[in-house]
Amino acid sequence: MSETAVYVCFYILIFLYGICIGSFSNVCILRLPAKESIVPGSHCMNCDYKLRWYDLIPLFSYLFLGGKCRKCGQKISKQYPLVEGANGLVYVVIFMVNGFNVMSALYCLCATALIALSVVDFRTYEIPDSFNVFILVLGIVATIVDRDHWKSHIIGMLCISLFLLIIYLVTAGRGIGGGDLKLMFAAGLLVGTKEIIFAFVLGCILGSIIHVIRMKVSNAEHRLAMGPYLSAGILISMLIGERVVDWYLTVSGLSRFI
Ligand SMILES: [Zn+2]
Repeated sequence: MSETAVYVCFYILIFLYGICIGSFSNVCILRLPAKESIVPGSHCMNCDYKLRWYDLIPLFSYLFLGGKCRKCGQKISKQYPLVEGANGLVYVVIFMVNGFNVMSALYCLCATALIALSVVDFRTYEIPDSFNVFILVLGIVATIVDRDHWKSHIIGMLCISLFLLIIYLVTAGRGIGGGDLKLMFAAGLLVGTKEIIFAFVLGCILGSIIHVIRMKVSNAEHRLAMGPYLSAGILISMLIGERVVDWYLTVSGLSRFI
């Protein structure tokens, strides 16, 4: 087998792995906010049909069933295939950009949590602690694996989260959500200093632009859930954050001081 063929097989396997994890994360999205157990089997929300193994193949079952319940024909939420597909794609992109190493695997698991918490935050304006605890554990593992740069991980954990803590205290929780603060704390430990600063700046820019557009389009006041935007910032930063920040420091001449 040629080298290209081996790579293609690898990426197909990573994609399949990604959609399986995405399928599990769909269960978490549904059940964690309601504090339900994530163990028992799935059933149709409409007719209670207990899903068989062949109804639970990530992405493919949805496509094969045309997005409807096998028994009653009730439409299945598009969230399932979207979350699964997004997981698969993001996994492939992370391994393509960052190479085959432990950090890529940790980034993939973090990406799954980011996608899941974005959906939950978008719906409920709340980020369940379990997602942030999960990312924090990934951060601890990353700091051990990447111990030559442990300072970057520790400062990354504190720099944005302390800044947000001040805003949180000054505005009595109205300026920023506690969940967003914990997210930047946990993700900062995972990705490191430069990356978390880039993630935060990018998240704020994305958040304000998209929020204004949404309010203009729907002509209504929306509450702003920051989780999805911060998550997008973290995700993009895991891929290109360090390079962008280094480039910026060089062209601005600031690299001489750092
Ligand atoms: Zn049904």
